Amino acid sequence: MATQTHKRIPVAVLGATGMVGQRFIDLLQGHPWFELVALAASEQHGGRAYSEATRWRLPNSEMPTEVASLPVVACRPEALPGVKVVFSALPGEVAGDIEEAFARAGVAVFSNAKNHRMASDVPLLIPEVNADHIAAIAFQRKERGWPGFIITNANCSATPLAMALKPLQDAFGVRKVLLTTLQAISGAGYPGLPSYDILDNVIPYIGGEEEKLESETRKMLGSWQEGQGFVDAPLAVSAHCTRVSTREGHLECASVELEREASPEEIIAVWEGYRPLPQQLGLPSAPEQALIYRREVDRPQTVRDRDAGKGMSAVLGRLRPCPIFSYKFVVLGHNTIRGAAGGSVLNAELCYAQGFLTDL
Ligand code: NAP
Repeated sequence: MATQTHKRIPVAVLGATGMVGQRFIDLLQGHPWFELVALAASEQHGGRAYSEATRWRLPNSEMPTEVASLPVVACRPEALPGVKVVFSALPGEVAGDIEEAFARAGVAVFSNAKNHRMASDVPLLIPEVNADHIAAIAFQRKERGWPGFIITNANCSATPLAMALKPLQDAFGVRKVLLTTLQAISGAGYPGLPSYDILDNVIPYIGGEEEKLESETRKMLGSWQEGQGFVDAPLAVSAHCTRVSTREGHLECASVELEREASPEEIIAVWEGYRPLPQQLGLPSAPEQALIYRREVDRPQTVRDRDAGKGMSAVLGRLRPCPIFSYKFVVLGHNTIRGAAGGSVLNAELCYAQGFLTDL
């Protein structure tokens, strides 16, 4: 594995004032390979200091002193000289063009936005699930003539689902998945939903979310084939997405149909024994256990389990036979860490460890 033998790579956060942007700032503090040197958001901040431009919203922490005085500049490559890697927490309305401008300028872009996720030359990457999709970067750079590149991470609900399914797919095959999500309000950004709309309420609709879950899961569990591109997994996914009044953590209730018979003990053993590449490489943000199975009848719970593995583990539980499909279970993932900023940082670490950040 690559170690800290060189100077840290200068990185910036785009959308630094938002929910995911603040998570990036928090996770990049003291990072062994990346040095956070610049912050960007919309033009409205006009270079004002971060502490004047926004308030710190993450619970149990203060705005890091290292960023309080950094100016909040515009999301343009020329405003971020010397930056080699950007972590994008931009909204989909603006992310597409801005991220492309950075890749064209020779910067590696690690994005949370939906815009490029399904592109035929852009990896939709979860290092524990499809690390080999990283090979698409060479094709992307050649195809688009970019000295930089774009890698995206998945929708915050698709992430824990794909992590739960991957070992099952490898061991038993997965044909169908039926899923209902209970998603936290932070998934809608800040300020997000009006309190009157979400307190004491469940909203059975999140625009575009069900489609993203269905298509992104198939792409991630599919393969990258040289000369052919991404090939979707032959898997039917049907999702119901709901917004509930939790702050962080998306809880998901899934039923799966497996291709081969398996006992509950075999399934749990496959989950608990899962040790994919980030854990083998010991990447700095990789949790010790990618998947944690809780045996208590009433776990995982959003408040109790979302911070497992510093918010980077997917927490599973309640595996039981399903009278319609093979099995049903519950999975929980921290949406702004595992499903957003932490996932992107892990993607960048995988690129660093595999030498993709050396020629920028
Ligand atoms: P958010 O809280 O609304 O933050 C959006 C950020 O983008 C702010 O920093 C905002 O800065 C900036 N911005 C807005 N308009 C801009 C413009 N025209 N030019 C440059 N910057 C602009 O949203 P979020 O929840 O952090 O989400 C960020 C991205 O991550 C979205 O694409 C979202 O879909 C994705 N994502 C979110 C989650 C989650 O759980 N929240 C999970 C996975 C993926 P200003 O202060 O200048 O307005």
